[in-house]
Amino acid sequence: MGPRILIVEDEEPLTLLLRYNLEAEGYTVDSVARGDEAEIRLREAVPDLVLLDWMLPGLSGIELCRRIRAREETERLPIIMLTARGEEAERVRGLATGADDYIVKPFSVPELLARIRALLRRTKPGQVAAQLIAGDIELDRETHRVKRGGRELHLGPTEFKLLEFLMQSPGRVFTREQLLDRVWGHDVYIDERTVDVHVGRLRKAINRMRRPDPIRTVRGAGYSFDETFAKAG
Ligand code: CA
Repeated sequence: MGPRILIVEDEEPLTLLLRYNLEAEGYTVDSVARGDEAEIRLREAVPDLVLLDWMLPGLSGIELCRRIRAREETERLPIIMLTARGEEAERVRGLATGADDYIVKPFSVPELLARIRALLRRTKPGQVAAQLIAGDIELDRETHRVKRGGRELHLGPTEFKLLEFLMQSPGRVFTREQLLDRVWGHDVYIDERTVDVHVGRLRKAINRMRRPDPIRTVRGAGYSFDETFAKAG
């Protein structure tokens, strides 16, 4: 079971988007739409991280954050605040109240996922590995280095993110649209063929010297990281 994340957010479409993306990354997700409900939920069980919206019915995010810090069981609970644009003064207050990080809406999902991983790596080093290893491929999220058979590969930033994303869920098939969403960010408009171009570049970079190709093209569906390849390591 992956790290547990509690989403406290009253915008349902955003909660659904976050839940979908977090579950795809292997997190266990719970959500509540009110600040006062979140307080009750946190007394029942303490998650590994909280995504906390600023403006909430019942109890504001800032007040909830203050109460979380005041309780011994949750005083170190990692909190990322979700704030609206233009609330600079409030953001500063949020950090002063004890949030570990904040992200301004509208944000890109890959950016938020990166922040979550960074925060969990600090607080739960065992749970979010800095390295992804599959077969003879090693990907280091901190140094952004990729090796195959011990030799360093040179990938562009997009190819790196694409490989990282695919390696996280071996065997799972992602459509081009899903890959655009998760790797490029949902607010960016790019033609789906761009995905094919970058998969092509990624393959070229990692499959030198006739090594087996770990990326599967699934006709009419999309791409996936070959799970048998992943297990072979
Ligand atoms: Ca809100």
